Formats: sequence, structure tokens, C-alpha cells
Amino acid sequence: MKNRITPAAPWLMAGLIAVLCALLSWTPLAARFDNAVHDWFERIHPAGARSPAAVIAAIDDRTLMETGGDRAPLRRTLTRLLAKLASAPPAVLAIDVTLADPGLPEEDAALAAAMARIPNLVLAAEMLPDGTGWQPPITAFAAHAAAISHVHALSGPFDDINRRIPLERVSARKRLWALSLDSFRLYASAQEIVSSPADVTVGSHVFHSRWDEGRPFRIRFRLPGDMETVSVRDLLSGAADPAKLNGRVVFVGVTSLSAIRDRLFTPVALDRPMAGVEIHAQAFETLAAGAAPGGALLVASPVWTILLTFAFAGLMAAAFVFLQGRLSIAAGVAIALIAQFTPYLFFRQGWILPAFAPVSASALSFIACGAWRFVIVRRQLASAESAKSRYQQAFHFVAHEMRTPLTAIQGSSELITRYNLPEDKRKQIGQMINAESKRLARMITTFLDVERLNAGQMEMTTAAMDAASLIDTCIGRASGLADSKAIRIDWPGAPDLTFQADRELLEYAVYNLLTNAIKYSPRESTVRISARRDGAVVQISVADQGIGMSKDEVKRLFQKFYRTERAEKSGIQGTGIGLSIVKEIVTLHGGSVTVESAPEQGSTFTVTLPA
Ligand code: ADP
Repeated sequence: MKNRITPAAPWLMAGLIAVLCALLSWTPLAARFDNAVHDWFERIHPAGARSPAAVIAAIDDRTLMETGGDRAPLRRTLTRLLAKLASAPPAVLAIDVTLADPGLPEEDAALAAAMARIPNLVLAAEMLPDGTGWQPPITAFAAHAAAISHVHALSGPFDDINRRIPLERVSARKRLWALSLDSFRLYASAQEIVSSPADVTVGSHVFHSRWDEGRPFRIRFRLPGDMETVSVRDLLSGAADPAKLNGRVVFVGVTSLSAIRDRLFTPVALDRPMAGVEIHAQAFETLAAGAAPGGALLVASPVWTILLTFAFAGLMAAAFVFLQGRLSIAAGVAIALIAQFTPYLFFRQGWILPAFAPVSASALSFIACGAWRFVIVRRQLASAESAKSRYQQAFHFVAHEMRTPLTAIQGSSELITRYNLPEDKRKQIGQMINAESKRLARMITTFLDVERLNAGQMEMTTAAMDAASLIDTCIGRASGLADSKAIRIDWPGAPDLTFQADRELLEYAVYNLLTNAIKYSPRESTVRISARRDGAVVQISVADQGIGMSKDEVKRLFQKFYRTERAEKSGIQGTGIGLSIVKEIVTLHGGSVTVESAPEQGSTFTVTLPA
């Protein structure tokens, strides 16, 4: 079929879209999209069961109302809490409170004494705001700490949501591990934390965290209500039993949102900030869960993203190339849905698959390939329509053209049967019937050939032929018509003029021009036919002294069914199809037809063909 868009189009579009989406996936916009998607996953599917180890001892609003939140009251509260816990101590006690500056000597001494009775005490150090060093706890406290750890979180990328902590931070050449990591080491009774460029190892536990990326570690969040929390006020007042914390990992810190400095937004609570101490406890839970569900999420390699992006775009193109109609749309929708769903499947397996590229590539290829299909369907429809109308026109043509020979055959056969004619007359009529039926057969063949040529189903069979013999044949056939109107056909001949053409088709074309000239001329006029070579072309002209036509009419002459007003009024029978076929035949030969005409002056039709 002509006019078909090559099926390369959908593959090409899908490929370009995949490349574009893969490139765009490195932009901040795509990173924000991925963040939003995975934050949502975490909310609808938060980490499940927590380990029974961690518990938050919260210095909450009620505690602060009773004890005060300034430095001295805070240290007095810590002293009382540690004293309560000393008899049945936790496995690890991590205190997320800054103890970097000296307080009242006797109070600091009391707190230091309380610390001395706690095994596995982890204290916090903050980095100086300008990053030039650490603010460690004062020596009196640090002396009793099993570890001094940093308490920083990592926001972003490209937003202020805290999803990660750095497992390691270095300042002034001093490296501190995260509070949660040190707590985990003590809890796991591991001697030390060993680091390599790609991992951090605690005992037999290996955590993937790249040094060159700042040792990030993604927290797998529990919902805020899922973390076990006990109010320090209740522990002090006896409303909660301090012995319950025995053997557990206790994170002590201020949770009162009005008092804490570090209000951190997390994927699980975008509206309400999370206290730093809870983030450490959550990080500890993630470390403790290890590779089990609820453990750290790993970021899938970019190879996966690119592979899936191209796979989905390619599948989409395949759906629209190989499937038809509704099936292709259904397959496209299914592929798009699978693409949307894939990051979630990865998430459920503990992997973070950047969603932007595969999701957007599948959606955009769906739109592009769908649009392509729409265009294709429209074209096929239009071409089917035009084929149909061509067929109808052809039918009219056949019906009309056949009537003349059929009438002759009918009349003649009636003559033979009805009257007792002399032998030579019968013979003459028999020959006429034979000639007319042959003409009919030839007409049908010509017509079918033109149709098939048009549909691209047939090759023209060109052969060298003699112009004079072609024109002689046409004149011979038209002479009956010319004689009936006493029209003289003037044909000077054209010796040695040969050219390449399909004889059957060209005969049809010239015969048509000749009969038109005779049809549309008055009685006793002259029709001139000539043929000549002009450089690389051969020209055959048919000139008459007939009714002619205006310039506007000439322009529309080769349209199917078009007849001039003068022809219609003259009462001469016609369908307006012959010339359109002449034009098609000549065009198929790589030539052209031109007309020079003036009303009542006559017309000259010239066929120009490559020699
Ligand atoms: P038909 O002769 O059956 O009407 P054609 O396609 O052969 O169909 O011609 C289309 C129209 O062109 C004719 O109806 C007539 O109006 C005009 N025409 C064709 N040939 C001539 C001619 N030699 N002189 C004047 N008009 C012509």
C-alpha cells in the first residue's frame, strides 16, 4: 500500500524518549519525583515489626514542665534518671543531649558519678558550625563514655527531608561514628567498627555505605507511633518501671517540639517534625534489622534504571507495532501500569529504584505510539475510502463504455435472427459482431490494466513501437464514427518514429483523444493528427475545429466526471472519465498531456512522452 509510514517510527520514538528520560533522571526535578514516590511507599508500607531492643526515654513536654529545660535542670534530670537505671542498667544508654560546656561544678560531679555506674554509655558530640572541629562532652563525662558519637542526619537530595544519616563524619582529622552505629556495636558486643570504601562492618554485620558518597545510610522508618517511647517524667515519678529498660538500648533525648533545636522532617511524617533522638533510635532499628525486612533500603544500580527504561519504551513500541486496535491500547495501558508498579516491587524487595525514567518513558512512549497508531488508522481509512470511490467511478465507466458495442451487437444479432438476409450481408454483420465483441474484451482488459497499474499490482509492459502504426490503428478504429459525421482525418504520417511504451494503454489514450475530437466537432470539419520527435521527447497531437472550451474549463478537464458546459448542452453523450484515464496512462509513462483550446475555435490535445 502506498503512503504507509514505516513501522520504524514507533521504535525510533520510543528509543528517543528512553534516551531523553534516562538523561533527565539525573536532574533535580527527577530526584524530587523519586523522593516523593519513595516517601509515599514508606508511608503506605512502613517498616514492620521492630526489634525489641530500642526504646526512647523521652524528655517530653511533661518532663520539662516539671523539671525545666535549661542546661542545669536538664543535667539534674539526667542525673536522677541515670541513678534510677543504675541498679538494673540498659544494655546501651545513648544520650542525645549536648554536654559540651561545663555547668555548676557540684552538679557536673553528680552527673559524672551517675554516669560511672552505667555500662555502655554513648555520649553525643556535635560538629562546630564552621566544621573546624568537634564539641565533645566535657572530660568529666567523656571519661565514663564507651563511645562518643556524632548526632547528624542527612537531608535531601534536593529537599529538606531527612531520609539518611551519615554513618561516619570527620572533622579536624577526627572521625566519629553515628550515635546509632556506636550503640549497635556495643549492643552487638563487637570490638570495633571496620570500614572499607564501600562498606561499614560491625562484627558479622555488613552495611553498604560508600565512603565517596559521605557514608550515607538510609533509615527504614517505622511510623512515629510504632517506636516504643517512655516519658522520663514517668520513670522518675515511678509511673513507669525503670527495670523495664534493663538489657535494652535506650535513647535519651529531648522530644518536646518546643524545646529541641533539631526539628527534622522525615518521609513518614511530612507534617510533623521528628525529634533527633527518635531518628537515632529509628536508625538503630534499621541497623539491627540488617538484611531482614525493615532493614536498610539499598539504591538499585543505575544500570537497572536504564535497562528498565529502555525495556518499557521498547515493549510499548512493540505493543503498537505488533498488535492492532483495542488490543494494542490494552497492552499499552498494561505496560504503563507495570512500569508504574515496578519501583514498588523493587521497594518491597528492599531496593530503591529511581522511578522517574521508567515511569515517564513508558507514559511518553504510550502517548507517542498511540498517536502514531491514530495517524496510521486515519491514513488507512482515507486510502480505503479513496479506493472505494475509485472503484465506483470505474464501475460507472465500464457500464457506460460497454453500452455502445453492446447496442451494436444486440441490434446486429436481432437483424440476423429476424430477417432472411443474403449470405454476404450475414457475413458482414457476423464480422461486425465479432469485431465489436473483441473491442469489448479489449476495453475490459484495458480498464482492468489501468486499475491494476494504479493499485501498483501490475508492471507496465513497455516495448519499442512505431508511432505511425499506433496512429493508423486508432484511425482505422475511429473511421466509422468519423464517416458518420463526414469528418476528414488528416494524418500526414511520421516515418521512423519509434519509442518505448505500453502499446495497449497508449492505443487506448490516443483512440480516446481521437474519438473526442470527432465527437465534439461539427459535421464536415477536419481533425488533424500528427506525431514528431522533439529532442528527447515524442509528441502526438490531435487538433480539431470543434466546440472548444474556456481556460477555466481546461484546468478542470482531467478531473474524473468533469464535462464542460458546452459539451453537456450539445447533447453529445459522455461520462467525463475518458480524459482522466488518458492522463493516468500518460503519467504512468512518465509523460504529460497539454491542451490548447478556445471556445468555438477548436482544441489541440498534445501528449508528450519520453522517447
Ligand atoms: P466524455 O467525452 O465521455 O464526456 P472525456 O473525459 O473524454 O469524457 O472528456 C471530458 C470532457 O472534456 C468532455 O465532456 C468535454 O466537455 C471535454 N472535451 C474532451 N475533448 C474535447 C474536445 N476535443 N473538444 C471539446 N471538448 C472536449
